[in-house]
Amino acid sequence: MTNIPNIYGCMVFNDSVMKERLPSDVYTSLKNTIQTGKTIDVSIANEVASAMKDWACEKGATHYTHWFQPLTSVTAEKHDSFICPDGRDKVVMEFSGKELIKGESDASSFPSGGLRETCNARGYTAWDPSSYAFIKNKTLYIPTVFFSYGGESLDAKTPLLRSMDALSEQALRVLSALGDTSASRVLTSVGAEQEYFLVNKEFYDKREDLIYTGRTLFGAPAPKGEELEDHYFGPLKTKVAEYMSEVDTELWKLGISSKTKHNEVAPSQHELAPIYEPTSVALDHNMLIMDTMKRVAEHHGMVALLHEKPYAGISGSGKHNNWSISTDTGENLLSPGKNPASNTRFLLFLSAIIRAVDEYQDLLRFSVASPGNDHRLGANEAPPAIVSIFLGDELEAIVEAIVGDTDYTEKARLKTNIGVPSVPTFRYDSTDRNRTSPFAFTGNKFEFRMLGSSQNIAMPNIVLNTAVAGVLCDFADALENAESVTDKAKEIIKQTLTCHRRIIFNGNGYSEEWVAEAHRRGLLNLKTSVDAYPCLLADKNIALFGRFGVMNEAELRARHAVLFETYCKTVGIEAKTMIDIVNKKIIPSIERYLCELATTAKAKRDICGDGVIALEKSLILKLTELCENINSTAQKLKDHTVSAKSKSNSKQSAEYYRDCVCPEMARLRLAVDAAEQLVPADLWPLPSYGELTYKQ
Ligand code: ADP
Ligand code: MG
Repeated sequence: MTNIPNIYGCMVFNDSVMKERLPSDVYTSLKNTIQTGKTIDVSIANEVASAMKDWACEKGATHYTHWFQPLTSVTAEKHDSFICPDGRDKVVMEFSGKELIKGESDASSFPSGGLRETCNARGYTAWDPSSYAFIKNKTLYIPTVFFSYGGESLDAKTPLLRSMDALSEQALRVLSALGDTSASRVLTSVGAEQEYFLVNKEFYDKREDLIYTGRTLFGAPAPKGEELEDHYFGPLKTKVAEYMSEVDTELWKLGISSKTKHNEVAPSQHELAPIYEPTSVALDHNMLIMDTMKRVAEHHGMVALLHEKPYAGISGSGKHNNWSISTDTGENLLSPGKNPASNTRFLLFLSAIIRAVDEYQDLLRFSVASPGNDHRLGANEAPPAIVSIFLGDELEAIVEAIVGDTDYTEKARLKTNIGVPSVPTFRYDSTDRNRTSPFAFTGNKFEFRMLGSSQNIAMPNIVLNTAVAGVLCDFADALENAESVTDKAKEIIKQTLTCHRRIIFNGNGYSEEWVAEAHRRGLLNLKTSVDAYPCLLADKNIALFGRFGVMNEAELRARHAVLFETYCKTVGIEAKTMIDIVNKKIIPSIERYLCELATTAKAKRDICGDGVIALEKSLILKLTELCENINSTAQKLKDHTVSAKSKSNSKQSAEYYRDCVCPEMARLRLAVDAAEQLVPADLWPLPSYGELTYKQ
């Protein structure tokens, strides 16, 4: 049996290792930077590097790497060994402060949205001391940020760190205006629940669509999908339980507090949730969770699919970003306390979030936009593409009372009574849950549920932090100049809630009525990524990011360009994969079956005459028609991809991909899936949905 407390964090250069191995002044200085976010004293770098190297080598490491998050969906690393010549024949293991602090890389080989060209390619990685170094695959990983020669951020993390600072500064101003000066930093925390699918590697290897695009592009539905609702929280299969157990152990070794695991709604779909932590650390850890899920699956003959929509017709995967704001003295500013109606501080922060979400609903929608997520949002399995806030009965009633100037009477929280005396009783929560809301208050945090399963969580949190910082800054300005802070705070709360109430919606977010109602309220409904991407460059949004130095206009334009390009490339790869599978596998298989049918029909007719070949004849006719349809649709799809590429800019290309390529792909799929239902299993070249989702 593994002793969990003993292995927990054993691969991490964490606080206790630092304390044990660093001279006390170096330790104090580094810890100060980690806790306060203040600039690091570079003179300690040599000693930290040397301690890190000794620790890592003792654990079998031979290499180190700067680890960063470029504007792709995955992390990047380049390994250097610690070896350094010692005379002609020998080596020693070395790692300098300079190597710890700074790395150089060719920025033009990563997406830069025009910020870096091949001719001026220099990019840097710089140590992010707020996230612990760790060992994986005999390599010391140093979390870093990535930026260009001109200082523009080229990664997901730099703007996130900047947004956390912005929020901290503005929240501290509000707290101090309210007379609370005990905190010296305000932190946002995130717990990201990660959904994923597991598929048998043997089947996976036969599906080029899964290999190249992460999702199935063809596949007739299995006789059983998720209609019996028997998978969610269902018992774990032994193979899956063993997989999950290894994932947990690997994560615990990396100091990642994997806490909850269970089967999800769709067959072969699962979820893992860690305990929440500061956002930038949660970001690194979520990347490691996704990486660990994929690596460990190989040991169990499976592949972990993190795509938002691996299978049509059954639920896709998301990521729930549980987000809260707390002080370094340990107070959660989103905790309503016993009496929320008279908790001014809570109501101020709540109002700030409500206003931020309403004013920047476009940016929030933008922050979760991806070609993969286009298949989920608004498809009645995930929140709609419309951003709204669920507050729950109690807070909703408080908001009503504040806006309407009436008294709020607290509803008594009933005790449970289920008619079985032996079952313990407790008080009901103050509100029921709502699973359909994209942004739901859940007791002392907000759960942003629109994120796609494969996405990097930085952007949604950058938007949340910065938008809320913006509102808190306005609040602080007003409070700092007020004669009576209490009166001013009340006035701000009332005014904000009155103006931004339209964003609050407690009903069923999946319903048609909500779409119509949201339209009446003037809320945005940006259905696809291509609709959402341009929001980034709206004047008000450029102003917001610029106001706190989170991202300047060049950095925003770069991200905008990368997103459009990535959209085009992603859909382009999907289309090409479809055409390839059709030409090399689908059409030949149908033809083979046609040949078999014709041979059988001929033989039967020779023996028994024309009367006995009705079945073969009808199948031959149907399949011939389908095959021709498949062939001509694939040809049209090919023509469309050529037209898409010839557009004058990537926005126009993306629109063409969405409006012409995607519908053609859907038509091609329809014809292929119809054929799959007629061709015998042993002749069909792709493993079926039944095999993929039920035979892990
Ligand atoms: P559910 O699926 O019921 O929403 P889970 O237990 O799967 O709940 O996940 C809840 C997530 O919210 C966990 O990652 C948890 O650590 C996180 N969480 C709990 N409290 C907070 C908080 N104050 N701030 C941020 N995240 C939180
Ligand atoms: Mg959960």
